[in-house]
Amino acid sequence: MYCKVRTFFIKDFKVIDVCVEVTISSRGIPRVEVTGVKGRESAKSIKMIRTAFSNSGLEFPNKKVNINVLPEGLISDLADIEFPVSMGILFAHLGVAPGTSDLFYGGMDAAGSLVPATKIIFMDGAWSHGRIGRLFIPEGSHYFNESKNGLNVYKLTSLSRAAEILIKGGQPSTGERQSLSHNYKWKAPDGKNCFCNVLGNENAKRALTISISGHHNILMLGPSGTGKSLLAEKSTGMFPSGTSADAVEIIKAAVMCGQPLENTVKTPFRCPHISIKETDLIGGPRMPGEATLAHKGILFLDEMHLFAPKVLNSLKTVVDQKKIDFNCGGIPVSYPADFLLMGAANSCMCGLLGAEDRQCKCNGQDLNTYNSRMNPALLERFDILTHVTGAAVEAVRAKGGGNCSSGCRIKEQINNAVAVQRERFKSLGISYNSQIPTDHINSICTLGKNTALLLEMAVSRYGLSTRAVHRILCVSRTVADLEGAPEISVAHIAEAVQYRVKNDKP
Ligand SMILES: [Zn+2]
Ligand SMILES: [Zn+2]
Repeated sequence: MYCKVRTFFIKDFKVIDVCVEVTISSRGIPRVEVTGVKGRESAKSIKMIRTAFSNSGLEFPNKKVNINVLPEGLISDLADIEFPVSMGILFAHLGVAPGTSDLFYGGMDAAGSLVPATKIIFMDGAWSHGRIGRLFIPEGSHYFNESKNGLNVYKLTSLSRAAEILIKGGQPSTGERQSLSHNYKWKAPDGKNCFCNVLGNENAKRALTISISGHHNILMLGPSGTGKSLLAEKSTGMFPSGTSADAVEIIKAAVMCGQPLENTVKTPFRCPHISIKETDLIGGPRMPGEATLAHKGILFLDEMHLFAPKVLNSLKTVVDQKKIDFNCGGIPVSYPADFLLMGAANSCMCGLLGAEDRQCKCNGQDLNTYNSRMNPALLERFDILTHVTGAAVEAVRAKGGGNCSSGCRIKEQINNAVAVQRERFKSLGISYNSQIPTDHINSICTLGKNTALLLEMAVSRYGLSTRAVHRILCVSRTVADLEGAPEISVAHIAEAVQYRVKNDKP
């Protein structure tokens, strides 16, 4: 008697279809033989399956049983597929055929209870596209479903329960039946996270508003204790509500990083410590890092001048490519890392340069250390440099304010600017002005005569590179979008230039 049971194998966030063929024959000495599996780790699983059958009141065939796993040599033990293997033996022994689109996945213990795999069942879009049928998995399993598909999920507790439903025709209970249609949702924003709740620092708030609207990387410079971290923390609250595709991407990135699966998401805010190692920041072949956890959110480097130069250097390519590629035993793996980079740093090693009330105490060596850490190549990746001068002083000057109302003007501006960009870039496959490709920059950022003249003057005065000019144009487009202006004006370009050349001092 022969039976084919379908299952799968999860390798580095890819699902690979696997087929278990069970052949039972009355001829030959009764024994179990496993083929198609690498190594000799299967004996333990087979012994355990026999015990589980007896503990579940099921008869294990006293015949010659061959278990063949296809594709050959893909898996090295039966641990995660003991349940499908057991079902194959039951079906073949009792002469019952499983449904052609039924899938089984999971391990089992000697008592016959189904054991969820430690990994989250990661159903990527490519695998689950157009898939219909039933998926039987152990209760307690977690699964991530990238795109909607027609699978019905059944979470079962034991082999005997599976036999009752699939052999004897019993009905699954409502608790066992799960809906796979994912409903990942955005967490409702709370009103406390808004720039309105921070007094003073108007220049920095303006710079951050532009940064968030167009996803331009921003570096806040200034003495310690001036409110840079507070502004960064409040920034996630300023993000407009994301799309459902963004929600799925955030959950996917978190699952890849080994975080528990949640159905509600909020804009990620990651703030790694200055002592972080390169492998923890950008990740390694087997495990992504903070950069991936920050996907579609903010990666905030507080006290950026204190991070190891090597660590900061490793970020450059990630910022450019918005993903991290590794080679894992000959197989390429790619982790998403499309974040808004926010940095905060003192203006010098002692942190007093630029302070209104005290003098910088840095010597020549301190200044050298500082300059070598803030490496120019990484600094180039920041489209906006802004000075944060001190909340304490400005707070006294600030009149009124301090509470965010439902008709918050800054949030409304950001929402509108983001909506304009989504519409503009629909056909380009991007979302923000910071991502405008070089071959589209002239058509998207058209300049009038006077505006072009101003930009030319800035180029010669500050010796700006082609890359810098491209970035300035992207930022000026966002400044115009915040105003709802179709054309980039002289004022928009002027504002974008001052952020590039560190000149927005009040
Ligand atoms: Zn100093
Ligand atoms: Zn507000």
